[in-house]
Amino acid sequence: MLAPYTTMGLGGPARWFARCTSVEEVRASLLFAQGEGFPVQVFSGGSNIIFADEGFDGLVLNVALRSFREKESSDKADLIVGAGEPWDRVVVRAAEKGWGGIECLSGIPGSTGGTPVQNVGAYGQDVGETLTSLRALDRRTLTEREFSRNECGFGYRESRFKGPDAGLFIITEVRFRLTRNMQPEIRYPELARELDARGVAERLTPADVRSAVLALRRKKSMVVDAADANSRSVGSFFTNPVVTKTFLEEKLKGLPIPAYPAPGGIKLSAAWLVEHAGFPKGFRAGGAGISEHHALAIVNRGGKTSDVMGLAGEIEEAVERKFGIRLAREPVVVRYKPGKEQTA
Ligand SMILES: Cc1cc2nc3c(=O)[nH]c(=O)nc-3n(C[C@H](O)[C@H](O)[C@H](O)COP(=O)(O)OP(=O)(O)OC[C@H]3O[C@@H](n4cnc5c(N)ncnc54)[C@H](O)[C@@H]3O)c2cc1C
Repeated sequence: MLAPYTTMGLGGPARWFARCTSVEEVRASLLFAQGEGFPVQVFSGGSNIIFADEGFDGLVLNVALRSFREKESSDKADLIVGAGEPWDRVVVRAAEKGWGGIECLSGIPGSTGGTPVQNVGAYGQDVGETLTSLRALDRRTLTEREFSRNECGFGYRESRFKGPDAGLFIITEVRFRLTRNMQPEIRYPELARELDARGVAERLTPADVRSAVLALRRKKSMVVDAADANSRSVGSFFTNPVVTKTFLEEKLKGLPIPAYPAPGGIKLSAAWLVEHAGFPKGFRAGGAGISEHHALAIVNRGGKTSDVMGLAGEIEEAVERKFGIRLAREPVVVRYKPGKEQTA
């Protein structure tokens, strides 16, 4: 069953499953699937993926490459991390050493290799700022190549690995450049207030920021915790939509939607749209629901993938009907038979 490998806790059986701890094992698994004519679905930490109730009719390949190297210079520190290394361990290591640049990304579940896929971000930081390059295996040629940061196509919850090249590359190693001896920069008002309240805002360290971020995330059930039923999710289910100024002024005139300037237009709060379309925090529909602490987190309440996807569909339709905006999904939804309609 795939369910225990995911934070949502959903998904039926895989026809084949390979846990790969080296690039050679990844290659061998891909060759096996090619030989048998099976489709392959790659995943790592399982925190942004939803498998169908029927499972997956092919090979599910779990990237579990673990390695960790560090190189320090006078003002910088390079971290070279295997794709299967849990992301939060990287943040812990950086915070312990006082290296800045990823402290606001504390508590995000999943693997290090998963972070570039949607350019993970939180509290005003994203990995695209500190990632300098990555290595990835081309599934067509089975050869590894390097991508510089500029070649990754990073945007808001976006990269070439989620967009135009989705499914073509398996990320094997990621390289970050962090800053030594630098006061962290706080760009997010809620985090600034928390640090102020703690009386540490004047002489901040990455460890202070990590501690404050974790506290804020826990309050929203955004840290995976077996004891917290509201954290059985994939985090935010929808991204914040970006609309034009004209759309905002003409179609959403007078509505108190939280809105922020963003590249390409104005970013709106998806959480506000969901709540005001009739889906408040704590809403329940069969075996799925909305987190009691975060309006964007759809939670598995002991149901099935079909419950979660059913609720997601209802929310999308209601938001579109009421506000004329089609919300985009953040997680990857995997069909039982790629290319065919899924029941999920
Ligand atoms: C409680 C909670 C809070 C969260 N908070 C945040 C947040 O604050 N910000 C944020 O951006 N995200 C957040 N997320 C989403 C998620 O944790 C991140 O997107 C994470 O980086 C996904 O990594 P993963 O290894 O779990 O990916 P998986 O779920 O295993 O896979 C997700 C996608 O990435 C692909 N993928 C994974 N590994 C590789 C690889 N090595 N090579 C190629 N493709 C790969 C898979 O094919 C799939 O398409 C949250 C999730 C949860 C459950």
